[in-house]
Amino acid sequence: MSSELPALLGGTPTRPDGPPAWPLPDPDVQAAVARAMASGAWGQYHGEHVCALEEELAAFHDVPHALACASGTLAVEAALRALRVGAGDEVVMAAYDYESNFLTLHALGAKPVLLDVHAHNWQLDETKLEAAITPLTKAVICSHLHGGLVHMRAVMEIARRYNVGVVEDAAQAPGATVDGKPAGTWGDVGTLSFGGSKLLTAGRGGALLFTDAQFHQRAKTWLHRGLQQWAPLSELQAAALRPQLRKLSAATAHRATRATTLLTALQPTPGLSPLGAPFSVRSEGASAYYKLGFQYDPRAFGLSRELFVKALRAEGIAFDVGFKALHVGRSPSRFRALGELAHATDAHDNCVMLHHPVLSGATSDVQQVADAVAKVYRYRDELTRPA
Ligand SMILES: *Cc1c(COP(=O)(O)O)cnc(C)c1O
Repeated sequence: MSSELPALLGGTPTRPDGPPAWPLPDPDVQAAVARAMASGAWGQYHGEHVCALEEELAAFHDVPHALACASGTLAVEAALRALRVGAGDEVVMAAYDYESNFLTLHALGAKPVLLDVHAHNWQLDETKLEAAITPLTKAVICSHLHGGLVHMRAVMEIARRYNVGVVEDAAQAPGATVDGKPAGTWGDVGTLSFGGSKLLTAGRGGALLFTDAQFHQRAKTWLHRGLQQWAPLSELQAAALRPQLRKLSAATAHRATRATTLLTALQPTPGLSPLGAPFSVRSEGASAYYKLGFQYDPRAFGLSRELFVKALRAEGIAFDVGFKALHVGRSPSRFRALGELAHATDAHDNCVMLHHPVLSGATSDVQQVADAVAKVYRYRDELTRPA
């Protein structure tokens, strides 16, 4: 019999071997990489795989153009450059977002204009977008984060009215659907990441999605120096990605089923409210769950956020704190803030997220997550008491 105590208090961890490793072993990826070795594609500048992956990404997303590159961060920069963002321009983004998007704007000499997020799901609050737009505004960056979805239809309607470009960062949402369309296809340019933790992974890598041929051409030109792309995806990376893309829809549906099971099992827990479907109010769509984010209420749960995360990690469950908000602890000269950014501050303080690999497993895997949370909740007082 394993001890009932939380691992942090000396009990047996719920998952003694820790969270599942990512990427999961995949015979199709292994075979594709082996074939790329056998054919010599692995050593080529221009083989079949990068071109084929670009075509398959475009087909999957139902857009005319896709472009592969070395990272998701670079994809966002190429997207901004395709929209002609440069020195002196303003770019609107959520105050709770991936930090490198903010830093990329500085690298381009542009000024981030930080918008608050919605109270209920901590995604960019499109109802405040119009008030943020000035004659200097060149673009908006929208990132779907932690299983939440940005209300893209409304964003696009406002952006079109003011002739402002939109970069839709779908690094955390490949395979998600937003209001009936694939995530990454609402914006003028969509971006993806193939980083080592991401849902589609080659360790590193990224891609851009375009409906407009001119934006595609501009990004392509900027990513090339003469005949060569200067930060490309390799043939071997593309070979590893292609079988993953073929299975993405099935994998997304599998994760969504597990997420629903988990959220149902977690429902009696006070202080944990999911950022995405099925309980989201405004955003219509199906999440991809790179992270399963929650609004954590330390008072309702009875444990500080740091102790909650620490106790669950000790159980072998990959919970983590969320991002730092971009306006917290940063000189106000580095951005312009629209209003108080109170909900973004709340997200900074109270976001927790579960990393996705456990959602690709069996029902018993997500049941373990729920059991571990319940155990930590039962022992919240003992966990809080100083040793
Ligand atoms: C991971 C991520 C990126 C950057 O991707 P890299 O390939 O690691 O450069 C960009 N935006 C978001 C929201 C991400 O989660």
